[in-house]
Amino acid sequence: MSNNNKQANAKRDDVKRGDDKRGDDKQGDDKWGDYKRHDDKRGDDKQGDDKWGDYKRHDYKRGDDKGDDDKGDDGNGGDGKLGDGKTVVLSFDDGPAPIGALKDILKTLRHEDIKAEFFVVGSEVEENPQKTKMIVREGHDIQNHSWSHVNLATASEEQVRMELSQTQDAIADATGVTATKVRPPFGAGGFEGNIDPELAAVAAELDLAIVTWDIGTVDWMTPEGLGPEKIANIENQFLQQPDKSEYNILMHVTEGTARDLPAFIEQLSDWGFTFGEPEMF
Ligand SMILES: [Zn+2]
Repeated sequence: MSNNNKQANAKRDDVKRGDDKRGDDKQGDDKWGDYKRHDDKRGDDKQGDDKWGDYKRHDYKRGDDKGDDDKGDDGNGGDGKLGDGKTVVLSFDDGPAPIGALKDILKTLRHEDIKAEFFVVGSEVEENPQKTKMIVREGHDIQNHSWSHVNLATASEEQVRMELSQTQDAIADATGVTATKVRPPFGAGGFEGNIDPELAAVAAELDLAIVTWDIGTVDWMTPEGLGPEKIANIENQFLQQPDKSEYNILMHVTEGTARDLPAFIEQLSDWGFTFGEPEMF
């Protein structure tokens, strides 16, 4: 168990390092700039909340910004709800470990009858083949998130090939499934209009579609999970992309997310969203 904690900590550090290295991912930088700045100040929650609050008021000019209890019924240009006629697909990165979190997430999804997609780390699949198999047995999609969670945009083509092909093999060995998508760690090199050429070449060789996400929950950021400050941030991201009809929501296999997932699903339902199944491509 302490191994899991260590792993989780290492992961958070990875995320931080990845962000720092992401200078070549222009679109990613622009899109996630605000979250990254917040990330730099993590630990200072007050400041982050204030910033998000300002962001909301300035960008959306919501007439009656009552704050936390606002479910998005207002400020969405009418009496319609935020998610009316819209679909969300839930996706989870960085599994299968920690296994306790994975089990809880799978249990919640089973209870809610939601099919999600899991972008797994190849080295963790190799260590936990039976647990990886649970994902598939429960009817979820399993996809490629590299072997060792490196920044694929700065990796050599040979390294990218190793990262992706070894993970394809590990997933196939553990589950019998051939992954059809890769979500590069940190989204690095994967954002439309800024696709890393080596990543694109290797993904084509392996018949992998390169995907990112629409809604980043930053569930890994302290305080970990999907608490009220994350919900406000997520609501803003939906409001920023009003023309989309389907949103892929990025979460991670962490204890905090496992804990908060039932309430988050309820929140999404309250906003009016329908839960869609992931597509293979
Ligand atoms: Zn990741």
